[in-house]
Amino acid sequence: MKDRRFDVVIIGAGLAGLECGYILASEGKKVCVLEKNAQLGGSLQVFSRHKTLFDTGVHYLGGLAPGQNLHRYFTYFDIMRHLKVRRMDLDGFDRITFDGDANEYPIAQGKENFIQRLLPFFPKEEKALRLFLAEMQRMCDKFPLYYLRYEERDELRDPELRMNARDHIATMTKDPVLRNVLGAGLVLHGGKAERTPFHIHAQVLNSYIDSAYRCVDGGSQIAKHLARNARQHGAEILARKEVDRLVLDKGRVVSVRTTDGDEFRADTVICNAHPATMMDWIESGDMRPATRRRLKGLENTVSTFTLHLVLEMGRFPYFDHNHYHFATTDVWDAVAPDPGGPLRHFMLFTPLTSRSPSHAEGISVMTFTDYKEVEPWEDSYNTVTRQGARATGYLEWKERKEEQVLRAVIARFPALKDLIRSVHSSTPLTMRDYLSAPRGTTYGLHRDHEDPMSVYVAPRTKVPNLLLTGQNVNVHGILGVTVSAVLTCAELLGKEYLVRKIQAAS
Ligand SMILES: Cc1cc2nc3c(=O)[nH]c(=O)nc-3n(C[C@H](O)[C@H](O)[C@H](O)COP(=O)(O)OP(=O)(O)OC[C@H]3O[C@@H](n4cnc5c(N)ncnc54)[C@H](O)[C@@H]3O)c2cc1C
Repeated sequence: MKDRRFDVVIIGAGLAGLECGYILASEGKKVCVLEKNAQLGGSLQVFSRHKTLFDTGVHYLGGLAPGQNLHRYFTYFDIMRHLKVRRMDLDGFDRITFDGDANEYPIAQGKENFIQRLLPFFPKEEKALRLFLAEMQRMCDKFPLYYLRYEERDELRDPELRMNARDHIATMTKDPVLRNVLGAGLVLHGGKAERTPFHIHAQVLNSYIDSAYRCVDGGSQIAKHLARNARQHGAEILARKEVDRLVLDKGRVVSVRTTDGDEFRADTVICNAHPATMMDWIESGDMRPATRRRLKGLENTVSTFTLHLVLEMGRFPYFDHNHYHFATTDVWDAVAPDPGGPLRHFMLFTPLTSRSPSHAEGISVMTFTDYKEVEPWEDSYNTVTRQGARATGYLEWKERKEEQVLRAVIARFPALKDLIRSVHSSTPLTMRDYLSAPRGTTYGLHRDHEDPMSVYVAPRTKVPNLLLTGQNVNVHGILGVTVSAVLTCAELLGKEYLVRKIQAAS
């Protein structure tokens, strides 16, 4: 058993864990990042089937044009100049369709372009379109770090964060189709009609309207470059190290233990995994039962089933946009999956590769799926590092689900039918096992417009030297998670100091 001492131990090498690793190592801290999987990156991981590359999570990045928010953050991390990305279709990076409607509604990049591309479909709704953009902008402006501004104000108490996304959009237009088009971005945050705040919708969608980019050859490059840069500053980043115990003494964490018996002593511990998962690593007497109950009881966003199709090379065009299809009359019903019921929506992505820039080698099709569907097999576990068997019943369920999604996709894109070489899929159990995400949640904690503080998770916990980072602390997505890493590290370095440093470097 090794016993090592660090200033900071970070549990999880997802985007936030790696970003914290970079920030703190570059500030001279002795840092160790422990990742349970063989591959770093969490939701940035990729995998291949028949030599065809698929993303497990990230399909596109927003705010990445020079001078924009993510571009500035990634410049500070010194990864911008290494990334292989390509800007998506300016006139429609997302395209939205509905059952029984022949139109394909484009979501365009650039505020004026966004309006001009939708106006032909909604000629009387210019005012509503302008209002929608202005309201999104107003919401984003409330979060200083969204635009890399330094302010000490507590935006979380702002009463306008209590505006409900669906209701607020409904005040802007009476046109039910336009309401659906403006609400369709809910697939990017797993929004719920009765719960999701408008500011979440705004923060996520606004950055793509600013600019939308596809990673060439997968999103794992972000993790690869971040890890390399953090290591250059002296961070140790160890894969295949699964944490299963936080050892506390006199109310402080003294060390972190991994399943292989190693122990890592630390002055500060940062957890990038879901806070409810972290509770399982802390002995019952070491954490107040009320805190444990609260974190374990918070509602998470729905899980996902994703179909991955390997295609005949050079036969199906690469789509320079994402295709979001809805089979519901109200888009907000799409995220209330009905276990075993008809498919309500799908999100289709064509990964972009350098060897085939004009044709798709594969296609990924995501659809929100209730964890209840896989509950009968939840005692099984299977990842590359900890392999296990899944029951026959599960494999049969998976096949039925694959067929259901495939039918819906082929109905929309009949040419695909003869071009599929092989079919693969990931399920809520895959998400749960690879990310330690409770019930396979896609985007982490569900925000609540009525009572924002009830689901707010601060970077500081009740244990003074235990911090949290990642999508559950701020907002999910590449930009939101990057802001979370800054908020977490600001607890150790000082907010003004860190923000000014990032501003200066970008
Ligand atoms: C299917 C899907 C599609 C998405 N598409 C997009 C998109 O197109 N654009 C976008 O901007 N965002 C997208 N997102 C959201 C974005 O990918 C995530 O919000 C972000 O990557 C989460 O980063 P994180 O660091 O918070 O957490 P994670 O990526 O979940 O990282 C947590 C890390 O902790 C590790 N860990 C957990 N338990 C342990 C343990 N016991 N010991 C050691 N390590 C542990 C995990 O293995 C993981 O590496 C998508 C997410 C999903 C799931």
